[in-house]
Amino acid sequence: MKIVVLGGGESGFGAAYLAKKKGMEVFLSDKGLIKEDFKKLLIDADIEFEEGQHSEERILAADWIIKSPGIPKKADIIFKINQKGIRLSSEIEFASQFTDAKIIAITGSNGKTTTTSLIYHILKNDDLKVGLGGNIGKSFAKQVADENFDYYVLEVSSFQLDDIQNFRPYISLLLNLSQDHLDQYNYNYEEYALAKFRITENQENDNFFIYNKDDVMSQNLLEKLEIKAKMIPFSTKDKLKEGGYLNDNKMIVKLADEFSMKIDELSLVGNHNIANSLAASIAGKILQINNESIRNSLMTFQAVEHRLEQVAEIDGVKFINDSKATNVNATYYALESMKQPAIWIVGGVDKGNDYTEIEELVKKKVKAIVCLGLDNQKIIDFFQDKTELIYSTSSMAEAVKVSKSLTEKGNTVLLSPCCASFDLFNNYEDRGNQFKKEVLK
Ligand code: ADP
Repeated sequence: MKIVVLGGGESGFGAAYLAKKKGMEVFLSDKGLIKEDFKKLLIDADIEFEEGQHSEERILAADWIIKSPGIPKKADIIFKINQKGIRLSSEIEFASQFTDAKIIAITGSNGKTTTTSLIYHILKNDDLKVGLGGNIGKSFAKQVADENFDYYVLEVSSFQLDDIQNFRPYISLLLNLSQDHLDQYNYNYEEYALAKFRITENQENDNFFIYNKDDVMSQNLLEKLEIKAKMIPFSTKDKLKEGGYLNDNKMIVKLADEFSMKIDELSLVGNHNIANSLAASIAGKILQINNESIRNSLMTFQAVEHRLEQVAEIDGVKFINDSKATNVNATYYALESMKQPAIWIVGGVDKGNDYTEIEELVKKKVKAIVCLGLDNQKIIDFFQDKTELIYSTSSMAEAVKVSKSLTEKGNTVLLSPCCASFDLFNNYEDRGNQFKKEVLK
């Protein structure tokens, strides 16, 4: 079996490594440059590779091609592979063929990393043999090659789901849908949403699908789709006969038996995290983890870095890093969770944001806006007559300095940019790290 892997990052290397370990003939091709660390790993594993080009003839002679999620669907090479009818799979599809472990797969527009990590924490805390992968940390394929886990909790993007054939999670979870990455889906929201729903397409009636009953797009599509898995909803609005919901200040999960917990015992803050916690608890209950253990995990879970992460409290002022909020919907939830007047740092590369969605929240929760980007004009134009204080800055040092000068005891400084980070930073992690450094200076 001749395998070609496209892309030499975490998931591409993992797929190549697994294929090699299974005795297949492997060739990895990356049109860009491969990072030194991965090159070394490829050489150590004796995997043949090329960079800076795609040798078409060799690629098109493969029996099975594994595509990294970062390679655009419309790349020339993908067109040629499809034209020739060669089997094309994503890394999670490929790796899932080599394990009998139960897979819990999480997708959605926002909250994937948080909820995936939370479910992993619940399983790990209960002493299950569990791996964490997908878009987080070590690739799923590398772990399938080296480990012997009984469960995998995987964060799955729509790009990974675009190229599945048999991928069948024991539990699938679709957290929510809002418009994102539409450039890869012909600017068609339904096409993007349907890509996410593919997480259910191979499931049978002994599998489970956890979904968000409050999510309008999910509800619309559920009316059209036929899903074989047992469907379990969660809602923060309605009481449910079965599933996870809110009852006053308690979250309740009703399946064969009932789990309940007070909201203020949750370690995570914000309404969106109640939804994430409900979804994660349903997964825990399906896997028959006992209530005490789930409660304990929800109380001890540490927010994932750069997601509403509390950095410090200095002189009665809280500093919160939500650098991962790269779209309006994510920032909506960050603002909603603010309990104190906020100095809000916002800006970067705008992905077609419509700020009317957060206008009311900003009026209610924000005391000053500090724009941080190369081009702050759109934000200034939108908010200048809706807020008293608005400043334009172009470096993290300046943004934090201005923010600090505006604070008084009982305020919160919130970095929740609504935008991508590439104008001033390498990525959202770099942006979040610079924020933390400046705050703690
Ligand atoms: P993803 O992996 O889907 O990008 P993350 O867990 O990294 O999600 O969170 C991304 C951003 O979205 C953060 O700003 C976070 O606070 C916010 N967020 C987390 N959960 C939700 C949710 N259920 N709905 C909306 N926003 C959320």
